[in-house]
Amino acid sequence: MLDTSVQKVTVSDIEKNFILKGVLSVIKKVVTAQQFDIWFSCLRIFSITDNSIILVAPNNFIREWLQSNYCDLFSSAVYKVLNSSREVIISIEDEVFEQPPISSFFTNSSAHVPENLTEGYHSSPLNKYYSFENFVVGPCNRLAHAAAVAVSESPGYAYNPLFIHGASGLGKTHLLHAINNVLASKYAMKTLFLSSERFINHYISTIRSNSWDSFRELYRNTDALLIDDIQLFENSQGSREEFFHTFNTLYNAKKQIVITSDFPPESIASLEDRLVSRFKWGLLCGVDSATIETRIAIAEKKASLWGIDLSHEIASYLAENLPGNIRELEGAIARLSREEKITRNRITIDAAKKVVQELSGNKKTVSIEAIIEAVSRRFHVSVSQLQSKRRTRNLALPRQIAMYLSRKLTNMSLTEIGGYIGGRDHSTVIHADGKITQMLKKDKNLIFLLQKLESELQK
Ligand code: ADP
Ligand code: MG
Repeated sequence: MLDTSVQKVTVSDIEKNFILKGVLSVIKKVVTAQQFDIWFSCLRIFSITDNSIILVAPNNFIREWLQSNYCDLFSSAVYKVLNSSREVIISIEDEVFEQPPISSFFTNSSAHVPENLTEGYHSSPLNKYYSFENFVVGPCNRLAHAAAVAVSESPGYAYNPLFIHGASGLGKTHLLHAINNVLASKYAMKTLFLSSERFINHYISTIRSNSWDSFRELYRNTDALLIDDIQLFENSQGSREEFFHTFNTLYNAKKQIVITSDFPPESIASLEDRLVSRFKWGLLCGVDSATIETRIAIAEKKASLWGIDLSHEIASYLAENLPGNIRELEGAIARLSREEKITRNRITIDAAKKVVQELSGNKKTVSIEAIIEAVSRRFHVSVSQLQSKRRTRNLALPRQIAMYLSRKLTNMSLTEIGGYIGGRDHSTVIHADGKITQMLKKDKNLIFLLQKLESELQK
């Protein structure tokens, strides 16, 4: 028997489901099948009041995209279905689930719940957009991608657990969704996909309600557990303890566990040794910042997925000038496409420059001259030495640092930077950028030095 709290949610879920279906069927008639799949199929309704309707998108990027491109379409579709107007608010999972209702914690598979109850029974809804097909493989993520594919083909056996770590915006959550998609859709597995924040929230609400049986039953009876952003466990000892037992149960039952984190396990402060060592039982792999070639490929892939006409020149410009977090690159493409729609002009390089500048936002723009001067002061070499073509050994590191900082702090192209610092070509700048990025992972003094240089330059 369902208890009453669950029943209350269920009744309104049925209504919500009905309205959502109606709204989506109106939208389906006006967008292409591909657009529908990417942007709309993953939406849920969170709440409906007399004035507003809150939809939940799986992530911030999809939310922004929908807000900027389909606001009017939503309003008119809602009007058609409800026969009165509502403000359409698009939110994201983590915002609406700060205090999650218990029914939001159920699983992705609809196989074991009655058809009309599936709404609200998802962990994170399946997101078809984050598929393996839509993921660009490059040297930075080749291992993580191969491991993710292996796990999705042979869950519980290939690598268990699979632990993917790397800086923000490099595709970890994308890979986690891709695995989840295959397991849930192809093998109809009962999967649980959630951020560790949601796990912690669920843990806390379970302390309040003392409903440990259902908590444990949920996590320990899943076929696969995919946990995003495990570094957030750092602050919750109780959750770590609970997760430890969940891990053991699933692992012993040969159930697949996949974990992502911004840091490798041993760098997560306060993570107990027993968890760190368990995370190492399977495969640990990192994703690195994408090379320029991979970023160009990603920009072109996204543009073609979203039906945007983006020339190779502009894709290259964006990829060169928005290194690191791929979300920024996506954001730039989304903004350019919005302008293209409004002005009905092709996307130009000037528009791209403007968007890059806007995205660099409050960061003060720094001139390459100032960078070279600051580096020359710090390393006691002259400006002209840095700019000369001489290949003296003591100039190599300061030059690479100057190139790295110019990439990071100016909007200049690789060719311009190379030309300015030692008359080199773009490949030297890429090499320098990669070299310094690698060194920064190990060398605390270098991190400190660069932080000081950057803050001096941005004053
Ligand atoms: P993370 O979880 O590592 O912070 P995400 O997986 O959320 O990063 O990725 C941020 C965005 O960048 C997503 O929209 C994702 O699709 C995109 N992205 C990152 N790497 C790739 C890639 N190799 N191919 C395609 N898209 C990518
Ligand atoms: Mg992520």
